[in-house]
Amino acid sequence: MTDLPTRVGVVGGGTMGAGIAHVFVASGAEVTIVESDDDRVAAARQALERSLQGAADRGKLPEGTDVEGLVARTTVVTGVANLPSGTGLVVEAVPERVDLKQEILGAAAERCPDAVLATNTSSLSVGAIGRGLPPGRLLGMHFFNPVPAQRLVELIRPPEVGDDLVEQVRGWVEALGKTAIVVDDAPGFATSRLGVAVGLEAIRMLEEGVASAEDIDTGMELGYRWPMGPLKLTDVVGLDVRLAIAEHLAEELGDRFAPPQLLRDKVARGELGRKSGQGFHRWD
Ligand code: NAD
Repeated sequence: MTDLPTRVGVVGGGTMGAGIAHVFVASGAEVTIVESDDDRVAAARQALERSLQGAADRGKLPEGTDVEGLVARTTVVTGVANLPSGTGLVVEAVPERVDLKQEILGAAAERCPDAVLATNTSSLSVGAIGRGLPPGRLLGMHFFNPVPAQRLVELIRPPEVGDDLVEQVRGWVEALGKTAIVVDDAPGFATSRLGVAVGLEAIRMLEEGVASAEDIDTGMELGYRWPMGPLKLTDVVGLDVRLAIAEHLAEELGDRFAPPQLLRDKVARGELGRKSGQGFHRWD
């Protein structure tokens, strides 16, 4: 295990950024969250507070943890230029757009010349995001949602990133109590590619009338000990999100990822899964 950097910057304090800030501050780092404007600063602070308090209420933080103290130790600022000097790691978790991520990381590289740079992208090429940065300085740190509860961090390694950096970041992941896997910068990495492949096949089976959604999911849950069947998981992720990833993977890897018509039809009807109340299952 490696000691965490004393100072960690998290750019974007939304769903993922608040969770990433939570795990670093709870593990002893001083965290600065960067947001885009004052309203978002307040929202990010609230999200962090809710996340830490929820974990404390569920007994997921050590007994006696001072939640207010952890929140007070986290600074929320606007603009990457306000990251403190001496920041050792900057993780960006802004929306999934290459141009935005490039702009943020370019500014972070200038402001924090010694920091390791990481992107939490779930589907974009890390190499494309890192174009324009000093080579070998950016890698993918793909956290899963909800960050405090999920044990995996997928490290995405473009070819220029050296072994030393990968091992240093793996040590940081272990210091957070999580496990890292290391994956090439290939489309869909390991997790999205395999997860989407199984999800798409389950949708094709439903289209062909092989079995009902309930029975396909129960088959994988009881027969293969999956915590959640592939159709239920697609509902939880969001059918629109899965459709976008499938389209991207079909472009990059070919027709085996072509989205089934049933997926397109459901998204067109607004059946997006848990968030809309209806997907392959009904959610009340
Ligand atoms: P989100 O919309 O909840 O949060 C994004 C945050 O970035 C917002 O708070 C927004 O105000 C902030 N932001 C936008 N522009 C900014 C700027 N210029 N400077 C600073 N902050 C800015 O999104 P999210 O779900 O947290 O996703 C963030 C990243 O994590 C994306 O790349 C996404 O693909 C990836 N990801 C998401 C999930 C998930 O389940 N939500 C899982 C893994 C990875």
